[in-house]
Amino acid sequence: MSEPVKYILDESRIPKTWYNLQADLPKPLPPVLHPGTGKPIGPDDLAPLFPMALIMQEVTAEREIEIPEPVRDVYRQWRPSPLYRARRLEKALQTPAKIYYKYEGVSPSGSHKPNTAVPQAFFNKEAGVKRLTTETGAGQWGSSLAFAGTLFGLEVQVFMVRVSYDQKPYRRALMETYGAKCIPSPSNETQSGKAILAQRADHPGSLGIAISEAVEVAAQRDDTKYALGSVLSHVLLHQTIVGQEAIAQMEMAGDYPDVLVGCTGGGSNFAGLVFPFLGAQLRGGKKVRVVAVEPAACPSLTRGKYAYDFGDTGHLTPLVKMHTLGSTFTPPGFHAGGLRYHGMAPLISHIKELGLIEAVAYHQIKCFDAGVMFARAEGILPAPEANHAVKGAIDEAVKCREEGKSRVILFNLCGHGHFDMQAYMDYFAGKLTDQEYDEKELAMALAGLPSVKEAA
Ligand SMILES: *Cc1c(COP(=O)(O)O)cnc(C)c1O
Repeated sequence: MSEPVKYILDESRIPKTWYNLQADLPKPLPPVLHPGTGKPIGPDDLAPLFPMALIMQEVTAEREIEIPEPVRDVYRQWRPSPLYRARRLEKALQTPAKIYYKYEGVSPSGSHKPNTAVPQAFFNKEAGVKRLTTETGAGQWGSSLAFAGTLFGLEVQVFMVRVSYDQKPYRRALMETYGAKCIPSPSNETQSGKAILAQRADHPGSLGIAISEAVEVAAQRDDTKYALGSVLSHVLLHQTIVGQEAIAQMEMAGDYPDVLVGCTGGGSNFAGLVFPFLGAQLRGGKKVRVVAVEPAACPSLTRGKYAYDFGDTGHLTPLVKMHTLGSTFTPPGFHAGGLRYHGMAPLISHIKELGLIEAVAYHQIKCFDAGVMFARAEGILPAPEANHAVKGAIDEAVKCREEGKSRVILFNLCGHGHFDMQAYMDYFAGKLTDQEYDEKELAMALAGLPSVKEAA
């Protein structure tokens, strides 16, 4: 008998609730602070940017948040996503480990991002919003929000990091196909963009700058709100359908993971996979090792400081406590554009401090080596961001081989790389380099962190 390769759940098994890790944490998340007063902010302070339903999801301690039926209806387009056993990769690695991956590249835009874009568009529409602004790095988030916007009849305006705008023209075309407007950032359309361009006309942009531009536009108009593709707790919350499905699928496979691996940009796909497993552990279930993989050229979790910082470069956002490289830090233009953010989700940072997760950082060439090996074994070509998770999982499997141990590894294959072929072409042409960030710039960005007096 041949052994199963993928584990598929029926549409009726799409989770009915999102899982909120905050309900099970031994210590609550530090509060979000107002930059002027240094005092915790309330829901009303965020109302110019987000609809109240999402603000409440941001702060609630309830364990389960109901997924509205119209959102589940859209989820049915690609969910439940498949869970694969990487049998050919295991063979290629000659490892006694069992490697599983949850594949989120089956969504319309090719990544996990629609899992949150759809509910964000839904709750904005419910609140009477007409227009959404946002930022995007590689374009995965921008195209996902563009898709969700067109489903719910919302106008979408995307500020795309300049270096990615130039590297990934097809992502821009996809956003336009869904009816969104895409603007390279820094742009001349906002004060924050103009200020950056005045300093450096050929600035490559960064997620921090693009966020400032999108927030600025949203704050100016009553009919316009802002949407963020990662970092915030409600975004991580929406992604937990990934881990909930994975728990059911691992049960079908008759296994339970010893190790979970995910790549971390702002932390949302990682959270989506691991939070439901960590929740089970915190409620007395089986312990699981959890590894976050980040780019060595933008290493917020491994090299950043755990401190209060702005979410954006223009300092328009409240202060959140997170692992940060400093909001003025501009990472080099490596290909995993979705991982080029100066900070890490407050929830991920918090559980790192609590010792619930580990973090490692890899340079991009080794990640592409891993991604190509994966593609040659499994057929699926991962996004450059996802290659970090693939690399992390392969390293764990190699460790199993060296130690002669058979562990169960599960990672999140958060997106395909079909729009990232230029990166693969550069890799095969030997043109990829392991770019280093500027140590002096990092020191300066860290020295510039806002000083905040924390209540004990
Ligand atoms: C956006 C993106 C990321 C990074 O964002 P997270 O919030 O850390 O998940 C990673 N992989 C893919 C494919 C993405 O589109």
